[in-house]
Amino acid sequence: MNIGFTTSFPVEIVFAAGHTPIDLNNIFVIGNAGKFVEEAEFEGYPRNICSWIKGMYSVVLSSNLDAVIGVVEGDCSNTHSLMATLQDKNIEVIPFSFPHDKNRKKLEAEIDKLEKYFGVTRQQVLEVKKRLDKIRQKLIRLDELTWKENKVTGLENHLWLVNSSDFNGDPDDFEKRLDAFLQEVQNRKPFQTDFRFGFLGVPPIIDDLYDFLLEQKVNVVFNEIQRQFSMPYLEENLIDQYLRYTYPYSVFNRLEDIKSEIKKRRLDAVISYSQSFCHRQIDNILIKKYVDIPVLTIEGDQPGELDARTKLRIESFLDMLRY
Ligand code: SF4
Repeated sequence: MNIGFTTSFPVEIVFAAGHTPIDLNNIFVIGNAGKFVEEAEFEGYPRNICSWIKGMYSVVLSSNLDAVIGVVEGDCSNTHSLMATLQDKNIEVIPFSFPHDKNRKKLEAEIDKLEKYFGVTRQQVLEVKKRLDKIRQKLIRLDELTWKENKVTGLENHLWLVNSSDFNGDPDDFEKRLDAFLQEVQNRKPFQTDFRFGFLGVPPIIDDLYDFLLEQKVNVVFNEIQRQFSMPYLEENLIDQYLRYTYPYSVFNRLEDIKSEIKKRRLDAVISYSQSFCHRQIDNILIKKYVDIPVLTIEGDQPGELDARTKLRIESFLDMLRY
């Protein structure tokens, strides 16, 4: 069965049950994203609702999915209404919650519930986790080739990490392609860039942001949330893994990770990205307050290319860093 999902959750459970998990965000952004947004608006989704939500709605309706897992706590409050409109279209929806207070027992109960739903045991799930952790280990190598050796571009890093949310539905094939990529980049010469940037926030809806930055001699050597999707901590215990995952909890958990990676990766500045009409824009107040290197905030709205105003703001920010 094909099981869609709205954001990263314990994907091991779906694999253990022999199904294919599909990250709706990835299908949206690599497909005809503008058309997906338009279709949802045609059905009545308001203009002032985030494009990702509209995109996911249309992706579900146009895909061959057997059910959708909606992360209704720890991601996006809009997911509640997204799930309701999908239910109304006779799509089976399965809610999953990350408890805001990071309560271990509550998270364990959510995971138990999902395992029961899919009829799998914890042992089976842990076997899958072991298999996926081998691939995650290779993604850590890819990340190191980015920040330690400057041999992987910010865009490549972004794509590999973001796709590890569902391993494109086929971990074996994902690993094969990853091995070939790692082999290829080992022999690359390091890129000559002027600045090492971090990218904070949800993955961008803008296609050419990383390319534009590279043209300006900036490599993004830290993709914060994408790295979180790749579950880089390799905890032995499933519950620990999803408690260390910072994205669904408070911005203070994110800040702890961000501050330590800024230091470790010797970043010159960060871009704090947010999506128009997203509640996470409010988190920028605290990011700007607590991150102690220069921060440029960028907002994306519709899928597509960087607008002239944002390009100008990036150029001015770089001038400020240079002089
Ligand atoms: S970008 Fe923000 S508003 Fe949009 S789906 Fe993600 S969390 Fe929700």
